[in-house]
Amino acid sequence: MHVQTSLDLYDKVSLLGQQAQYDLCEAQGQPVPVTSPSALPANIPDVTQSVSTVVGAGGRPVPLLKILQTSACEKNCYYCPFRAGRRMRRATLTSDDLAAAFSQMVQKRLVDGLFLSSGIIGTVRTMDRMLETVELVRHKYGWRGYVHLKILPNAEEAQIERAAQLADRLSVNLEAPNEERLARLAPKKDFDHGLVEPLERAWKIVRRLRNAGQRVANAGATTQYVVGPAGESDQELLFTSQRLYRQVGLRRAYYSAFSPIDDTPLEGEKPTAPLREHRLYQADYLLRQYGFDATELPFDQEGNLPLEQNPKESWAAAHPEFFPLEVNRASQSALLRVPGIGPRGAAAIMQARRGANLRTLDDLRKLGIRADHAAPYVLISGRAPQYQLRLFT
Ligand code: SF4
Repeated sequence: MHVQTSLDLYDKVSLLGQQAQYDLCEAQGQPVPVTSPSALPANIPDVTQSVSTVVGAGGRPVPLLKILQTSACEKNCYYCPFRAGRRMRRATLTSDDLAAAFSQMVQKRLVDGLFLSSGIIGTVRTMDRMLETVELVRHKYGWRGYVHLKILPNAEEAQIERAAQLADRLSVNLEAPNEERLARLAPKKDFDHGLVEPLERAWKIVRRLRNAGQRVANAGATTQYVVGPAGESDQELLFTSQRLYRQVGLRRAYYSAFSPIDDTPLEGEKPTAPLREHRLYQADYLLRQYGFDATELPFDQEGNLPLEQNPKESWAAAHPEFFPLEVNRASQSALLRVPGIGPRGAAAIMQARRGANLRTLDDLRKLGIRADHAAPYVLISGRAPQYQLRLFT
């Protein structure tokens, strides 16, 4: 009887873990092979598909149990495999079972963190169940490591506060950049009150608790968009992300290229090109790490980024008056505008030139800079690098 219970439990863990991979927050996640099969408890199904790696502090890969509390859902979001009425295998874990399974996987060194999301059967009830799971993980099993908890649409203030106290990272999936676009994807969701408001509340609660000296979700909040099927432009997506970065302290937006799923209302739609997703991430990086404003991004007349060139190179091509920049005199923010120079490279240049002037492309290479990319846009000690001269001869 005991063995049968374990089988049921880990079957569900395996299924709900695989189903959770549809959630792109913590997007670096990839299923990871378990290097030592003997690490698995005997007679349980393979749960390795439930494990995703994310990049932790210092670039360290961290294996997470990424899982749904339930894959049952009462909503009917058009893009989603879990939408109500779709025929599929569904499962639900009790809070006790999920917390126990996670604890066992931690003990076997299979995972080093938890990402918990869920379908919705009553927002308040489901959110309570997720909170109960994390309460057990923290207090019954004493887990002090990483927990990412999804906030469900229309979650209550008290639930968001409890989530902020229990988790390290929170997320609310907007799915679309505004109300009008969301209506084409998820007519039962309310953009402003159901999704943006919880993000805003989470931010205020985290700040209040932090100021009161309490343990809070220090890794902040993230969101995810489904890119493509609502007909939104890149400009709409990036303007919304920028607003949320500035106004509600959003840490990160994830852009998920749409891929049609059978037996959903969008099954006949074209998939979104992965290159569009890639360009959105590059542009988003310019907003978060390079000091660009969304109004500066090189959108075309339809509000989309050029696909053939990365957004920073497109910006540089449209601003010849800005170049060439003398690397020994340019400000750090100006250096960040140079293709091939990132935040680390710009900081390294500022540091290096305190000692002596930079003189050659090799000096830039030694600082970890992609010097061949930067060459057409810079002067080094007053001279255009040789690579640039070759371009124009
Ligand atoms: S609420 Fe979430 S799980 Fe349910 S159909 Fe919508 S996206 Fe899918």
